Amino acid sequence: MTDTKKAHPCGVCKTCGGITYRAESINQRCGRSPHGHRCSGKFANASRDSDWKSCTSCSGTGKQGTAPCIYCSGIGWNLSRPWVL
Ligand SMILES: [Zn+2]
Ligand SMILES: [Zn+2]
Repeated sequence: MTDTKKAHPCGVCKTCGGITYRAESINQRCGRSPHGHRCSGKFANASRDSDWKSCTSCSGTGKQGTAPCIYCSGIGWNLSRPWVL
């Protein structure tokens, strides 16, 4: 296995579950529109390593074979304590 682990996201939208890798997006409006209307949630700060745990199903690669991992949505990470954000 030569897949390198991905960096974890630094922010999570508590409304739609969207993630961001941009620190400047934290506390900004999410604005994603996965279901055709813009999300009104904000990105919560999840920039600490302790906020995340590596996905055990894909070993943090975000992939299962050639398909995105369904347990972490291809992120390679899962929130360790989503309820504290
Ligand atoms: Zn959102
Ligand atoms: Zn995974």
